Amino acid sequence: MKIINPANEQLLAELKEDNLRTLSVKLATLRKGQPAWSQTPLKKRITVIRKFAALLKSRADDCALLLTREVGKPIRQSYNEINGACYRISWLADNAEKYLSDEVMYEDKTLREVIRYEPLGVVCNISAWNYPYLVGVNVFIPALLAGNAVMYKPSEYATLTGNLIGELLHNAGVPHEVFQVAIGGGKTGAALLDMEMDGYFFTGSYATGRYIYEKLAPRMVPCGLELGGKDPLYVTDDVHIEKVAAAAADGAFYNNGQSCCSVERIYVHKKVYNAFVDAFVKEVRGFKIGDPEKDDVYIGPLTRKAQLDVLDAQVKDALQKGAKLLTGGNRINRKGYYYEPTVLVNVNHHMKVMREESFGPIIGIMCVNNDEQAISLMNDTEYGLTASVYSNSKTRAEKILAQINSGTGYWNCCDRVSPALPWSGRKHSGFGATLSHIGLRAFTRPKGLHLRKP
Ligand code: NAD
Repeated sequence: MKIINPANEQLLAELKEDNLRTLSVKLATLRKGQPAWSQTPLKKRITVIRKFAALLKSRADDCALLLTREVGKPIRQSYNEINGACYRISWLADNAEKYLSDEVMYEDKTLREVIRYEPLGVVCNISAWNYPYLVGVNVFIPALLAGNAVMYKPSEYATLTGNLIGELLHNAGVPHEVFQVAIGGGKTGAALLDMEMDGYFFTGSYATGRYIYEKLAPRMVPCGLELGGKDPLYVTDDVHIEKVAAAAADGAFYNNGQSCCSVERIYVHKKVYNAFVDAFVKEVRGFKIGDPEKDDVYIGPLTRKAQLDVLDAQVKDALQKGAKLLTGGNRINRKGYYYEPTVLVNVNHHMKVMREESFGPIIGIMCVNNDEQAISLMNDTEYGLTASVYSNSKTRAEKILAQINSGTGYWNCCDRVSPALPWSGRKHSGFGATLSHIGLRAFTRPKGLHLRKP
C-alpha cells in the first residue's frame, strides 16, 4: 500500500497490507488478551489511558507533522486536532468511573439490584482519515476504558498516523494483546466484517456504513455508525453580519471542508442576504492557500485525489442549473490535490451541491423569506448530523432547532464537538452515539443483577 503526500504527490511510505491470515492472528491475540484487560481494575486502565494522552502531548510535534504530511491538513489544524484529542481523552478518563462502575438501583436488607456495565469483548473500529485522532479517540478510548480489546483499522489515507497511535498506546501500557492495528483499505475492512468480533464501530461514508450494517444485520452484533452529513447553517435577520460571516466561513472551510460536521449549506434571511454574501466572499478570498506545513496556511490540499472530480461535478451541475459562481470553482494549477475555495449563489435543492455531501472547499448560499422556509429547507436532506442557527434571540433559535431533525443543534456556533455531549447522527448520518456518558457506555452491555442474601 503506497502512502502519498497529497500536497506534493510524493511517496511517503510503502506498507504491507494485512491479509486473512495475519488478521486472524491479530484477532486470536486480542481474544487471548481481552479477559485479563477487563479484569484489570478500572483505575489502572484509566491511568494507562491518561499516560497515552501525556505521550500524545509530549510527541505533539512528530504527530502533527506526520498528520499534515499524510492527510494534507494545515499544520496549525493538526496541532488543534491533537490538543482536542487530549482534551477528549481527559474528559473520558475523568468520567469513566462515574459511568462505568456498578450502579445500585435498589437496596433493602436482603435485596440489591445492580446494573453492571460489562465490556462487549473484542470490538472492531473501522475509521476515517479526516480527523484520525479525534474520530479514533471517540471509539477506542471508551472501548479500552470499558475493558474491551480493539482491532483498529485506520483509513488507508491515515495509516501512518494509525500505526503511531498504536505505538503510543502500547508505550502507555495498553498490552499488545488488547490493541492491534489492521493495515489496509476497503478490502481489509470487508475482511474484518467476516470475522467473529463482538461489536463493530464505524466512522465513514453513508455508502460504506450501509454496506457494513446490512452485512452485520444477520449476526445481530452491536454496531455504531458515524456517517456523513449535509449540515445546514441559517443566518436570521437580527445578527452582526461580519462576525457571523467569518464564523460561517470557518465552519464551511476549516480542514478544507473535510469534516463530518462542516457547514455544507447556508440559508440567509432576505433582509441580510446581500450584506452577508459580500462579507462571506471577502472572508473566503482572504484565506491563505498553500503548503500545509507552513504555519500561516489555512487551506491545503484535499486528502484524496478522487474528491477533485466530485467537486468539479458539483460545480458543473450547479452552473448548468443556473447557479452563479462568486469565487473559486476550479482546481489549482500546482502539484498536489488543491481546489479553490468556492462560493455559489442562486442555488436550489435540485443541485447536487445542496443535496450531496461535498466534503471539500465548496459552499452554496441560498436566500430565504422567513424562518419557516429555512426550517423546511434545512430538513430537506437525507442526512441529520448537525444544524446551526445564528440569531441574537435564544428563544427564536431554540424554536427553530427544536424543529430540525439532527443529532446536534448549534446556536451561534457551528462545526464543533464537545466530549460532554453525545455525538450522534440521524437518518443517513448514522446511529448510536459516541462521547458523553452515552458514548462511554456504548462499548458495554448492561447486565441486571438481582442479588438476594440467603
Ligand atoms: P469511507 O467510507 O470511504 O471509508 C471509511 C473506512 O471504511 C476506511 O477505513 C475504509 O478503508 C473502510 N472501508 C471501505 N470500504 C469498506 C468495506 N466494504 N467494508 C469495510 N470497511 C470498508 O469514508 P472516508 O472517506 O474514510 O471518510 C469520509 C466520510 O466519513 C465522510 O462521509 C464523513 O462525513 C464521514 N465522517 C463522519 C464522522 C462522524 O462522526 N459522523 C466523522 C468523520 C468522518
